[in-house]
Amino acid sequence: MDKVSIGNVEITPLLDCPVLMNPEFFMPEHADGIRAEFARDVDERGLLPMAITCFLIRSAGKTIIVDTGIGPRKRAGFPVGHLPERLTEAGIAPEDIDVVIATHLHIDHVGWNTVPGEASGTSKIFFPHARFLFQQREWDHWMQPEFLIEPTNAHLRECVQPAMDAGQVELIGPEYAVDEHVTFLSTPGHTPGHVSIGILAAGERGVVVGDASHHPVQLNHPDWSPSADSDPVQAARSREALFEQAIAENRVWLGGHWPYPGIGRIKRLEGRRVFGAL
Ligand SMILES: [Zn+2]
Repeated sequence: MDKVSIGNVEITPLLDCPVLMNPEFFMPEHADGIRAEFARDVDERGLLPMAITCFLIRSAGKTIIVDTGIGPRKRAGFPVGHLPERLTEAGIAPEDIDVVIATHLHIDHVGWNTVPGEASGTSKIFFPHARFLFQQREWDHWMQPEFLIEPTNAHLRECVQPAMDAGQVELIGPEYAVDEHVTFLSTPGHTPGHVSIGILAAGERGVVVGDASHHPVQLNHPDWSPSADSDPVQAARSREALFEQAIAENRVWLGGHWPYPGIGRIKRLEGRRVFGAL
């Protein structure tokens, strides 16, 4: 897909990298259930297609990117990201990005905030003119000394802290409005300060889901929480509410981990929620 319009707001999906999901790792209690429901998609190794997709939003004269993927560094369990090629294909240079929004501060959502600097162990901001909007609650949760020193949290030191050190971060609350069309929807549970991004323009609505939902199997199993959800009960509550809101308001659904491009509408059909790709 090239792009989708919501009123006069234009959204382009940018595939950082495809991901093959191992249900035993992703959702151990429901591995058989996922494979049964998505039997058509399972490959010969039992893996299912997912994605790390960032979304470029052009709204009110600004160029915004929601989440920045896994990034240029090799991370355990992930391929390396390709966001720069996708930006080039979309005719955008990193210098053109005005705002970077993080739905949360996990490794696969902040990766391209920085690239390795010339001196070893240093990082350089990849979007030199951008304001980075991080949720205060996410910052307070993750940027504590005990998390920062953990080897598995290198991304916080490499991709999050440098943006703050460069003076480019604004810590905000979930009620913040980026402009007249782009606002936040509080969807905690995956992480404590997780947000989705709401779009409203000319009476049309959309939602960049973030990790409030990872896979369409959750449409009819909102309580199937992946192992990465920090509070599974709260995550299920946020997910259920987001699905229902998407149906009630006919929102364009933009799911960054759903099989690429993850863009469509959710409808209710014979008592079940179904996804119709755009
Ligand atoms: Zn994620």
